[in-house]
Formats: sequence, C-alpha cells, structure tokens
Amino acid sequence: MARTARFLVLLPTLILGFLALCPLGANEVAPAAPHAAAPAAAEEHAAEAISPAQALQRLVDGNTRFVSGHPDHPNQTLARRVEAAAGQKPFAVIVTCSDSRVAPELYFDQGVGDIFVVRVAGHVLSDHVLGSIEYAVEHLHASVVVVVGHEKCGAVAAAVSSDRGEGKIGTLLDAIRPAVRDTRNQAGDKTENAVRGHARRTAKLIPAASPIVKNAIGAGHVKVFAARYDLVSGKVELLP
Ligand SMILES: [Zn+2]
Repeated sequence: MARTARFLVLLPTLILGFLALCPLGANEVAPAAPHAAAPAAAEEHAAEAISPAQALQRLVDGNTRFVSGHPDHPNQTLARRVEAAAGQKPFAVIVTCSDSRVAPELYFDQGVGDIFVVRVAGHVLSDHVLGSIEYAVEHLHASVVVVVGHEKCGAVAAAVSSDRGEGKIGTLLDAIRPAVRDTRNQAGDKTENAVRGHARRTAKLIPAASPIVKNAIGAGHVKVFAARYDLVSGKVELLP
C-alpha cells in the first residue's frame, strides 16, 4: 500500500516531467492549430506578410546575385536557425522539379525559413502538392507562388518523346502531356517549348484547382507566376 501511495503522489510529477521532455508532441499537432484560428487569418496576413510585389522583387534580387556569382548566402547563421525554429514565415512558395541541378534556395540566394519549396519531378500537380501550396499560402502567409520549369527537364523531354515510362514514372509523364500537346505546333525546340508551356499551364492550374489560392489571389494576398530556369547562366526568367 505504501508503495502504491508513493507512486500516486509521484504520478503528477512524472506526467509533467514527461510532457516537458516531449515538446515533439506539441509541435506535431501545431499544423492543426491554424484551423481553429482561421477567422483571424486575414488580419494576421496583413500584419505579417510582405506584398506580392515585394516578395517577387526579393526573389529577383536573389537570382541576380546568384547569376553574378556573388551570392550573399543570407539567413544561414546559427542565430537565424534559432529564430526560424520558433516559427517559419516563408515569403514565397516555389514549385519546381526535383532535378539535382535546380535548387531554389541556391538560385534565389535565400536561407533558412525564407522559401517554402515543393519539389516533384516535372513539377506536376497532385492533391499533395496543392495541399502543400495551400498550407504555405493560408497558414504561413507566403505572398507569391512561383512555378519554375527548367532547361532540359528530363521529365518534359520524356513526355515529348512519347515515352510511356516504367513503373510510376508514367504518371508523371501523363501529367506533362497536355502541355506537350498545347505546344506541339510551335516553332523551335519541342522540349523547350513544352518546358515553358508546362510551367505556364501549371501556374494557371494552381488557382483553378485550389479555391484557397484563388481566394488569396482575389484578396490581393498572393500572386502566382510561371518561370523558367537556365541551367548554365542560372537565370530565372519570368514567363508572360
Ligand atoms: Zn526537371
């Protein structure tokens, strides 16, 4: 009995100690919290977010530094990591290919917590990709979404060549084929035309498939752009 009583006395201490040692539990449920605070989202956005024009300019400036060969490598210090660990506030969403030569933090010269990057081969859209974009727009208050296609994209080239793709690769190529069809009669290099067409098409599809993004555009909180990255120069060209 004495042992049981001692255990019961110690139990609250043990529970508190366990919770203190387990911040992971609190962080894990954090993404759900913004739903409860949804009515305040618009005010929060106005207070914290930069404008779409400012966000785009920040990316353009970073890319200019990268292209020049003199990047600043901003926001990569221990102090920045500590600051960002308390909460992320990325100003941009970058939707781009998984290609190892196409790294947005490098070519936009950004650091920890600056850009929310969604990468999948051929930057194809899916519910998972759209959900990731919506999370960054709705809850992290990113001000631009930039779809960045790139020179010599292997996924686009395979779709242009009518490759069926083995395994699940075919599903990626099927998602790119509409842009291949849209651009098939254009003069010039078919893969390059399809890269540009696919980036533009993806940028149009995002608000069409996501009421959350469409509403954020309507409210002036976000803008969506298409762009094309040059592998050698490092230049990101905004596509009209
Ligand atoms: Zn690619």
